[in-house]
Amino acid sequence: MAAPTVPASPAPTAFAATGFAAARSRAHGPTAALWHAVELHRPAGEVDGACELTLCGTLARVSVDEPWPTQARDVCVPCVVLSRSSAR
Ligand SMILES: [Zn+2]
Repeated sequence: MAAPTVPASPAPTAFAATGFAAARSRAHGPTAALWHAVELHRPAGEVDGACELTLCGTLARVSVDEPWPTQARDVCVPCVVLSRSSAR
């Protein structure tokens, strides 16, 4: 009577509901600073304040204090669209 082996599953995390964090890009020439979405592959505490590649392909500083989707007005539209389509 061997006990069935249960494969270890990754522990659920608080942010796993969306899988995205908001990240603030810097103003760059004519482009204003915007909020982008970053897909989280690591615990939010590890990426807070780090520069990560956003969904639209730019680098932005992750701010876990800001929820995603964000209520801010200055939001990167491609990131909103991409996060919606991949989040289902
Ligand atoms: Zn973006």
